Amino acid sequence: MRNPQMAPHGDGSGAAEEAAAGGAEKRPVSTIVILIAMQTEALPVVNRFQLVEDQDSLFPKGVPWVRYHGTYKDLNINLIWPGKDPSSGVDSVGTISASLVTYASIQALQPDLIINAGTAGGFKAKGASISDVFLASEVAFHDRRIPIPVFDLYGVGLRPAFSTPNLVKELNLKVGKMSTGDSLDMSQQDEATIFANDATLKDMEGAAVAYVADILKVPAIFVKAVTDIVDGDKPTAEEFLQNLAAVTAALDQTVCQVVEFINGKCLSDL
Ligand code: SAH
Repeated sequence: MRNPQMAPHGDGSGAAEEAAAGGAEKRPVSTIVILIAMQTEALPVVNRFQLVEDQDSLFPKGVPWVRYHGTYKDLNINLIWPGKDPSSGVDSVGTISASLVTYASIQALQPDLIINAGTAGGFKAKGASISDVFLASEVAFHDRRIPIPVFDLYGVGLRPAFSTPNLVKELNLKVGKMSTGDSLDMSQQDEATIFANDATLKDMEGAAVAYVADILKVPAIFVKAVTDIVDGDKPTAEEFLQNLAAVTAALDQTVCQVVEFINGKCLSDL
């Protein structure tokens, strides 16, 4: 057995390589799933592509998950929003909802590619500024501490994003590593792991989406716009809310450019 410490992923066993083996890289991408956790982030993209909300849900009866769909040029676009939490009424952010909708969307739609788009905290020490839009090169968790050999690595759950060098070049996107956890704030323990993960970005969904996409062998990319500077002076929640509207406009614009770039291309051309 290979040593998981040496090469947990990205060693020829990843979604990209599997997709290539199945021939998916040699035909143009046709179905994409865009996963977005918050309504404020999702609606500009829905409006731009004139996506329509499903009347008959693909998902189990009673779940809050919403699919908007439509076509743009040669692409079937599905935007999945986990919806409002039924008991509290707020957006279902975080890893649990993200995993569930990733699983359900792959099962129902068999997409060629998943795009997890959203906002994130950024570290200025790593070059992030408010409104920057990044493509995450790899994602890992920072709040799954299991100090037993190998379980520790499972907890961190490091996974590479599907590699898209041409997309990065063409759109001139910033690239950085992202760390995911279920809290908006940052405890000292989280901070140490985020540092160990060498993260430029901090979000609440990415590594969960990557986990499900990896086990189901679907390539996934992560487009994240910076709403708040984690290593800055302002309280995160305040800064996040202050910048959310403006930053979602930057996010929408980049998601649109990403979709435009993908149209007509094979996975291997990305
Ligand atoms: N107070 C917000 C809560 C949203 S949670 C509200 O009123 O709705 C934050 C969302 O934005 C998550 O989906 C997460 O992925 C992303 N996010 C933005 N900045 C973040 C940060 N600093 N840390 C973690 N997640 C962040």
